[in-house]
Amino acid sequence: MSLDNIEIDTLVVGAGQAGVAMSEHLSEQGVPHLVLERNRIAEAWRTGRWDSLVANGPAWHDRFPGLQFDIDPDGFAGKEQVAAYFEAYAKKINAPIHTGVTVKRVTRNADCPGFTVETSEGTLRAQRVVAATGPFQKPVIPAIAPKDERLYQIHSAQYFNPQQLPEGAVLVVGAGSSGVQIAEELLRAGKQVYLSVGPHDRPPRAYRNRDFCWWLGVLGLWDTETMQAGREHVTIAVSGARGGHTVDFRRLAQAGMTLVGLTESFNENTVVFKQDLVENLANGDENYLSLLDAADAYIERNGLDLPLEPSARERVADSPCISQPLRELNLAEAGVNSIIWATGYAVDYNWLQVDAFDAKGKPQHQRGVGKEPGIYFVGLPWLSRRGSAFIWGVWHDARHVACHIATQRGYQHYEDAGQRRAASVRPLASAPAAKVATA
Ligand SMILES: Cc1cc2nc3c(=O)[nH]c(=O)nc-3n(C[C@H](O)[C@H](O)[C@H](O)COP(=O)(O)OP(=O)(O)OC[C@H]3O[C@@H](n4cnc5c(N)ncnc54)[C@H](O)[C@@H]3O)c2cc1C
Repeated sequence: MSLDNIEIDTLVVGAGQAGVAMSEHLSEQGVPHLVLERNRIAEAWRTGRWDSLVANGPAWHDRFPGLQFDIDPDGFAGKEQVAAYFEAYAKKINAPIHTGVTVKRVTRNADCPGFTVETSEGTLRAQRVVAATGPFQKPVIPAIAPKDERLYQIHSAQYFNPQQLPEGAVLVVGAGSSGVQIAEELLRAGKQVYLSVGPHDRPPRAYRNRDFCWWLGVLGLWDTETMQAGREHVTIAVSGARGGHTVDFRRLAQAGMTLVGLTESFNENTVVFKQDLVENLANGDENYLSLLDAADAYIERNGLDLPLEPSARERVADSPCISQPLRELNLAEAGVNSIIWATGYAVDYNWLQVDAFDAKGKPQHQRGVGKEPGIYFVGLPWLSRRGSAFIWGVWHDARHVACHIATQRGYQHYEDAGQRRAASVRPLASAPAAKVATA
């Protein structure tokens, strides 16, 4: 379908979970809109994740309120099931999504309100634009990565399964949910694995018969509004793999994984690690234990009848890689010929050429309402709270953004007494033609 010369009230860019949630709330508010998606609905879940990935949260939790997963609610949906879920959701709410359309450029109109939107299918105009293009757009590999072509180096976004790696040992840099899950999969596939562990949180998968998603919910931790200063680089290590289990780095070391500290630099064939492994593990343990303590206190305070779980506080012994951490590793001598960089992502808003960013290109907004009037963001980490980038969190943020848009439309359509009188006597034939096209 050609989109040339269409005028639309609100344009949503991206049809991942954020775009689908946005469409639902805009429809509820009666806001005419279109959603443009360059690939397919929920494409990131199809091709941007490794083969065995399952959701990090159980199916009863990692979903929108309006639809349940068709699996055991305590189970963990596979990535294809998550993609199918959003496709079904979009169908259920009759979302006006156009797939296979890339938004190339958005600029503010010079001579009239709203924005000009250049797409691969023509140029349209929109009063408002919602950027729902995701928090994880550009894989980031730090500048310290060696230039050695004999090494097979990929970002976690390019990892699919152990078979794609050449024979030999592997260094996984980063031990957030992606890094630790990939490292464990490689270890189970028989690889010798070195895992570079930085600062992390590692909540228990479950405690006293409740998943950690439940605990973070009842303890109000998903709703925390601002990230604690200094914790910007603290990742969260959780796993729904194989039915879900607590990430316990000491157990991984006992199973044969070599843990090392933060990867600091490469010098020819030698990689140098920061001497912070013990500290990072200790801080991770503290985070783990603090959640157990908070859960116990909550149970006590509310008189809940949940079984005790003393084994959750048992700690396995430190392996030699923890008691005598490696300072450096000669990659060739250790047989390491692959490096997987599980080092996160950056945003990429090159297409959005408006005044809504700071000097570093970071979106400036308040709960998703952009600094530039008419520009909105959804799906970003900490958009309004800790849960914002996750499936259940984005749905709530999208509702706030849609309500803001509806309120602004109310102001825009206001007519004073003189305008109302003129409209009531205006002959039908001279009424202005409707300009807004819906999908
Ligand atoms: C490995 C991994 C595992 C995760 N697991 C979970 C989990 O278990 N539970 C959970 O709640 N969250 C999880 N997340 C976090 C989050 O839920 C996902 O990243 C999710 O895909 C984000 O949804 P989104 O709609 O914001 O962005 P995306 O899913 O990335 O969707 C953005 C869409 O915008 C499109 N797009 C981008 N630019 C343009 C353009 N210029 N024109 C048109 N279309 C465009 C893209 O094609 C894409 O489809 C995970 C993230 C990662 C990286």
